[in-house]
Amino acid sequence: MSEQIFNRHDASEAMLIGLLEEKGITLSPRQLEQFDLYYRELVEWNEKMNLTGITDREQVYIKHFYDSISLAFFKDFSGIGSLADIGSGAGFPGIPLKIVFPHLKLTIVDSLNKRIGFLRHLTEKLELEGVQLVHGRAEDVARLPEHRDQYDAVTARAVARLSVLNELCLPFVKVNGWFAAMKGAAVSEEVEEATASIRELGAELADLYSFVLPLEEAARYMVVLNKAKPTPKKYPRKAGVPLKTPLK
Ligand code: SAM
Repeated sequence: MSEQIFNRHDASEAMLIGLLEEKGITLSPRQLEQFDLYYRELVEWNEKMNLTGITDREQVYIKHFYDSISLAFFKDFSGIGSLADIGSGAGFPGIPLKIVFPHLKLTIVDSLNKRIGFLRHLTEKLELEGVQLVHGRAEDVARLPEHRDQYDAVTARAVARLSVLNELCLPFVKVNGWFAAMKGAAVSEEVEEATASIRELGAELADLYSFVLPLEEAARYMVVLNKAKPTPKKYPRKAGVPLKTPLK
């Protein structure tokens, strides 16, 4: 039995190693160990709280780890110093990116304190340095001077529609930095709907990327916005307002 489990572990790791090698990313034994620990902690804590609907090892390695890292297939992280991940939940995409690019100074913002508690435990267990965990609504945190207009790059995966996300995430980005929204569904309609919010928040549409997630062959999309100007003072509006009344 234990040998069976061990072999399966090896298969998931080997798959991640191979798929990332194809993209020019080589994982060290320490990074593989960190992903293994991440998987174990995620599944263990998931029994006590709702962190993910995916617990099969192979699925976690693809749908959470590989999918999170996929942003690096399109954007160069070597020149990125600070990254903020908004609505990170169980750590996606922020923690896998931090494991692969340990030089990143990562800030995670999530409004659910239980998930922040899991991430506190996880970052200690993985011995990740330079990770700041912030419990709060993005709308409130983005008003604090230490977070506003501060980050080279900002990410959000599966948090909200783009017109809402822009207001939650763009205030964190430095002028000339970028924000990437990672999505599981086609984005052209969302991008169209978000045109006004992009302009109003001082950003420009830079790139749209898509790729096919291995194994399940599902399409994934990324919208990248460049921040051209500081965010106007009136944004983000009060917590809850961006979702209730998206900018039009
Ligand atoms: N990004 C993760 C992923 O891809 O697995 C989690 C996605 S989960 C569907 C959305 C997360 O966003 C939740 O953890 C929720 O608490 C957080 N969230 C939603 N609205 C938020 C807000 N206004 N400010 C901060 N976090 C928020």
